Amino acid sequence: MSVDRGLKSAADLVDAALVPAERLAGIARVAERYAVAVTPAMAALIDPADPADPIARQFVPDPAELAILPEERADPIGDFAHSPVEGIVHRYPDRVLLKAVHVCPVYCRFCFRREMVGPAGLGTPSPQALDDAFAYIAAHEEIWEVILTGGDPLVLSVRRLAELMARLAGIAHVKVVRFHTRIPVVEPERIDAGLVAALKSCGKAVYVALHANHPRELTSAARDACTLLVDNGIVMVSQSVLLKGVNDDPETLAALMRAFVEARIKPYYLHHPDLAPGTSHFRLSIAEGQALVAGLRGRISGLCQPTYVLDIPGGHGKADIGASSIRPMEEGCYSVADYRGEEHRYPPVGGEG
Ligand code: SF4
Repeated sequence: MSVDRGLKSAADLVDAALVPAERLAGIARVAERYAVAVTPAMAALIDPADPADPIARQFVPDPAELAILPEERADPIGDFAHSPVEGIVHRYPDRVLLKAVHVCPVYCRFCFRREMVGPAGLGTPSPQALDDAFAYIAAHEEIWEVILTGGDPLVLSVRRLAELMARLAGIAHVKVVRFHTRIPVVEPERIDAGLVAALKSCGKAVYVALHANHPRELTSAARDACTLLVDNGIVMVSQSVLLKGVNDDPETLAALMRAFVEARIKPYYLHHPDLAPGTSHFRLSIAEGQALVAGLRGRISGLCQPTYVLDIPGGHGKADIGASSIRPMEEGCYSVADYRGEEHRYPPVGGEG
């Protein structure tokens, strides 16, 4: 099997020597349930000799995915609870998600929308559904930002992207358009002048939130793709998921955040893994996550600090769950912890407490 076209089945993964043949049956059972895709760029990063390879762990199915825990949910962040029309999620007053596509170039084994994306997922909205989605955005003047997600919106052709951007250009109250994507890392060859022109064609502020979880994903090709975006005035921020066995150690996390900043991508969100079905092997405790994030303070530049967030199950939005470094004390005083964990007294307003 050539990896040139990407790997889309358990047999493809075995043929490409990314997993041993004796694991085929177990992986095939997972692939019947959840979509599989590994792009050539990601396949090239996998070290088949390393059973703990952090890239393989993100994309190669694991029989552990068939263990569904009672607390896990098909819609862990509550998209459906906030979907007024197909393709739109309106969770916060000033912004909406626009899901124009439900396919991805890779299928992450920890995906929070794994029941919605892939060949057996929600599919692409019909032209009528898309008309209704844009009519909803146009009718709600409080919508300041449209976030294209899915699925990965940058799998769309340049022509389709330009059409979407033209429709957004015609809605004056939308000032910001954001793309959530893995493409610059997993399929960097798609980022070219034509795609950049399509993104910019709406005439709005365009942000690209890049999803990457391990510093090895920021290859030279990925960095070149990001350079093309940033040099053309597209602002980039990062999104990562804190994943057991991928990036749950201080060195890897620090290297990932530094890699983003070196590529002119501002670290934005570090997500606690969602309660997606069959993903418990990726989840660490919130206390473990807080300790890792606190360990970034002082260790690496303030530019490299992401916000550690949890999407509250049920659709209640994001909460900042980083451990607080300040706590109230008696008589209006506060105790403030420095990056070494040492506590310092801060006085109340108006003098000494
Ligand atoms: S790219 Fe995003 S939506 Fe697609 S499989 Fe990965 S986490 Fe899920």
